[in-house]
Amino acid sequence: MPEEFDVVVIGGGHNGLACAAYLQKGGMKVCVLERRHNIGGGCATEEVTLPGFKHNIHSQMHVGGPMYRTLELEKYGARYARPDPNYAYVTRDGRAIILYKDVDATCESIAEFSKKDAKTYKQLNEKFQHLRQVINSYWHNEPLPLSKMYALLENAPNGDLMIQILNSSVKQVNDGFFESEPVKCWLAVAAMQGTVPYDLPGTGLQIPTMLSGMHGHSYGICIGGSRMLAEALVNYITAAGGTVRKNCHVSKVIVEGGVAKGVELQDGSQIMARCAVASNTNVKMLMLDMVGEQHLEEEFARRVRAYEADELSLCTPHFALNDPPIYTASKRYPDVQKAMACRRSALSSPSPPASMIHRRRRPARTPLSPGSSRRTT
Ligand SMILES: Cc1cc2nc3c(=O)[nH]c(=O)nc-3n(C[C@H](O)[C@H](O)[C@H](O)COP(=O)(O)OP(=O)(O)OC[C@H]3O[C@@H](n4cnc5c(N)ncnc54)[C@H](O)[C@@H]3O)c2cc1C
Repeated sequence: MPEEFDVVVIGGGHNGLACAAYLQKGGMKVCVLERRHNIGGGCATEEVTLPGFKHNIHSQMHVGGPMYRTLELEKYGARYARPDPNYAYVTRDGRAIILYKDVDATCESIAEFSKKDAKTYKQLNEKFQHLRQVINSYWHNEPLPLSKMYALLENAPNGDLMIQILNSSVKQVNDGFFESEPVKCWLAVAAMQGTVPYDLPGTGLQIPTMLSGMHGHSYGICIGGSRMLAEALVNYITAAGGTVRKNCHVSKVIVEGGVAKGVELQDGSQIMARCAVASNTNVKMLMLDMVGEQHLEEEFARRVRAYEADELSLCTPHFALNDPPIYTASKRYPDVQKAMACRRSALSSPSPPASMIHRRRRPARTPLSPGSSRRTT
């Protein structure tokens, strides 16, 4: 007889693990199946350069939402450092803009490039206060329907400005409000970390979103590497009686009578699920390869086939260094060395920072209408 759990989760990335942890907390018997030899997915820390040098392969800056407290993840091994300043942007001529938790300190840094931009930044931040509540409601909740969000904004102070930003691109927000190229670069690099194209209408909200994160509660890095977050989730799940298995590549979702009943692994073994199969993998792989089109409604299958990943992807170079890099800008601005992230654009104007973001072919797109939405990270 195949093994049976209440829920089988395909994939042990941090989202799969979080889903499993909450289900286990709610009384379900859960089994997570990860195909790799390490859990964590994009939230992994591995030796990819020289022995003894551990690198966060992808994800490194974390917000640390309610899950951290609800599941008491610190108790299970995830501890965070939240450096202030959070983020510095260095220019070719040895100057820097530094984003501190404190808005006034940040404005002082901006004023070295443009007093006008510093004033605008301060004013916008005040106006963003109301938007912050809307944005924060997005971070850890089911997103509001756009009609409700528009209504909320329409009735909020400065709502017209927020709706204008919502419908603009990062570039339009930058050009509309700021004059200094380094200031625009600094904002563009922060905003585009969410892999939004610089000139795509509908991405402007990324600027207040990032700033809300960085000034509001500041990003953190997991002590011991990002994988400690995944390990803490595994510790939580297993302590609560759940199961997490590595080296288990799911090849198929077993469907009977239109219902997902379990999974089949690459070695042919089966694991059944009494209540549900949850998946942490991408929708095309899940629906077309693992479930199979024969089990899907034609219109749904067509939409899955038509789904395209976004046109930008992030890449991270990894270096094995004995000491932290010393930035030229740190001579004048020592705080640059303390920043959690220090970046520079390869360019002196805020086109996509080529060193950081690779742009794939751009599919034909129509500008976003008020009824459509985009997902941001
Ligand atoms: C270069 C880079 C930098 C980034 N930096 C940050 C950052 O600083 N902060 C941040 O918040 N985010 C960052 N991200 C984004 C972040 O890494 C992802 O959003 C996150 O890892 C997604 O987590 P997930 O659990 O949804 O999916 P994933 O991490 O992709 O996990 C999916 C898991 O499913 C497994 N899987 C797939 N198919 C199967 C199968 N058939 N059977 C079994 N298992 C399977 C995979 O092996 C994987 O472990 C970055 C991403 C990149 C690429």
